[in-house]
Amino acid sequence: MTTTRFAPSPTGRLHLGHAFSALFAQQAARALGGRFLLRLEDIDRARCRPEFADAILEDLAWLGVRWDGPVRRQSEHLDDYRAALDRLAAAGLLYPCFCTRKDIQDEIARAGHAPHGPDGPLYPGTCRGLPRAEAERRIAGGAPYALRLDVARARARVSGDLAFVDRDAGRIDADPLRFGDVVLARKEVPTSYHLAVTVDDALQEITLVTRGADLLPATHVQRLLQALLDLPVPDYHHHRLLTDAAGQRLAKRADSASLATLRAQGADPAALRADLGF
Ligand code: GLU
Repeated sequence: MTTTRFAPSPTGRLHLGHAFSALFAQQAARALGGRFLLRLEDIDRARCRPEFADAILEDLAWLGVRWDGPVRRQSEHLDDYRAALDRLAAAGLLYPCFCTRKDIQDEIARAGHAPHGPDGPLYPGTCRGLPRAEAERRIAGGAPYALRLDVARARARVSGDLAFVDRDAGRIDADPLRFGDVVLARKEVPTSYHLAVTVDDALQEITLVTRGADLLPATHVQRLLQALLDLPVPDYHHHRLLTDAAGQRLAKRADSASLATLRAQGADPAALRADLGF
């Protein structure tokens, strides 16, 4: 049975791009008599707000999106992510990172060059070689730290191919090193996007991950996490991104395209679905 999901972060109102993504996931499930789940990715305490979470449910209901079962809210499942982190830590694949954003910028400036990944310059690895006793001393002293995955070591731990199937692009060999040592637990919250999404896709038994093409690079890291945590590998379908009349990607802040605005202007949800191709 096919199970898909829509997994917005409640950091703002939904726009047309989200509407497309939600309808795409719903249709992918329904076309195959499968299940369609909703997950709120609300781990970022600084940016997520409960009123946006409520608004997402309202906007989706208005749009005619109907999900199966209860909504999963990541903020209520931190223990699941902690268990995954513990496992990676026990395997010796994590290290504490005390760097601030400024430390990282300074280090990159000092080095004079910085390999770039999909999210910008790669972490220069400053804390990777920190002696254990030194790290423990800093932690005992109350220094805030994130946990990073030693990606090269982790990749070496996984034998053989690391591939995934995208229904659009075909079979893709994952290259998780292109992101550098990603953060798996942040200073202020004991998880991160990559970890939580990977754990949840497995726990919710998602068989087909549909999401925008902007997240295709992220799949390379998530595929490695699946291998390290012995999780099943879903199929993927990264879909095209909607753009506005000027060819710009619809950002969450582009209020003109928010579902709330369209609704206030009297838009008809059935017509909107049809406009989006559903
Ligand atoms: N929460 C992510 C976002 O809103 C999407 C995660 C995913 O679909 O994998 O961009």
